[in-house]
Amino acid sequence: MPLLIKNAMMVNADKAARQAQDILIEKETIARIAASIPANGHQVIDAKGKLIFPGLIDIHTHLRQPGREDKETIESGSKAAAKGGFTTILCMPNTNPVIDNAMVVEGIIKEAKRVGLVNVLPIGAITRGQKGEELTDVFELKEAGCIALSDDGKAVSNSQVMRRAMEYAKMVDILLIEHCEDPHLSSCGVMHEGYISTLLGLKGIPGVAETVIVARDIELANYIDTRIHLAHMSLKRSVELIRLAKSQGIKVTAEAGPHHFTLTDEAIKSFDTNLKVNPPLRTRDDVEAIKEALKDGTIDCIATDHAPHTLEEKELEFDHAPVGMIGLETAVGLTMTELVEKKVITLEQMAERMSFKPAQIIGLKSKGQVKEGFDADITIIDPKKEWTVRKEEFVSKSKNSPFIGRTLKGCVATTICGGRIIYQND
Ligand SMILES: [Zn+2]
Repeated sequence: MPLLIKNAMMVNADKAARQAQDILIEKETIARIAASIPANGHQVIDAKGKLIFPGLIDIHTHLRQPGREDKETIESGSKAAAKGGFTTILCMPNTNPVIDNAMVVEGIIKEAKRVGLVNVLPIGAITRGQKGEELTDVFELKEAGCIALSDDGKAVSNSQVMRRAMEYAKMVDILLIEHCEDPHLSSCGVMHEGYISTLLGLKGIPGVAETVIVARDIELANYIDTRIHLAHMSLKRSVELIRLAKSQGIKVTAEAGPHHFTLTDEAIKSFDTNLKVNPPLRTRDDVEAIKEALKDGTIDCIATDHAPHTLEEKELEFDHAPVGMIGLETAVGLTMTELVEKKVITLEQMAERMSFKPAQIIGLKSKGQVKEGFDADITIIDPKKEWTVRKEEFVSKSKNSPFIGRTLKGCVATTICGGRIIYQND
């Protein structure tokens, strides 16, 4: 049955004035947008008082399947994504086995299809087993359905390997995503190296561990004349390097996670292991620079780096706990509360950072906007609704969020993917 959204206040990345219209969805497509479309027996959603965003796209999630289904599966991760307002997610290859051959890619696509909620697009590894030595078969991975390549979890630390990876990626036109971290500089650090790490007696990761790889990859991308996408940027200095590179026409894009625009290393005084992430939480100056970069577009998109871990693992001491926090279900609330409500970015910029730009970066031409002829991927958000993050309400298999207990303003009401309602709040 066709789906009709009445009183739809659309928020698109372009600056077109917001005005309420009706949206008719037929099959998987936005068929018509007009001032008033008769109900005609269609299934109707009244969106009065809510906002209509293009379906959100997260280019950085960890689904843990295959290998660690106790932390997250394609099914539980898809449910968490739908609840968080995401209609498309890209899953990172640091699974077990690693996503480095067609067979693993096909397995993920098949399972995602069986689950049938959000679009799950696999990211293949840059090197076999993510060992940083031998390149994977980029032709095979693209053919099998990989949307991008990354060794996320670690950087490709050998510059020659990265150079070759960029040359091949350019040849087949596939995006490379870099986790910027020099392993020798970050060594065994567990938090940002600075005043707080000294105070707490925890081993630090210096900012320069991130920026040397940011600078190297920008240089390589410039030399080879190809594009590079930098994952989870966390530093003021990284922002400066990217801003300069962009001003020189170098094809670099970047993302930042909600935790890197909301939290500082100060929070680690609580020793909450859910605050242990990689890259680590940085200083107030860095947080302000990330916000500024999201405002001016130096950082193109918001990506969650959703990284589920079990309670048992996170109950270890800070030194030994694994890195990462979940993020799919809190991204909208945090972005609206910390960025939109505080007037750092507009609603249109939020649509740009969470849907339009991610779609552009990965080349999804029929996604990222609420427009006639586009895919019917739509996220309906109640901007006024306040809610408190509760552990028992996460649908993700893991609950490792430092935001539990925090009250957020802005809540996903309905998620529509491919013309089907895949999530509805109340
Ligand atoms: Zn990473």
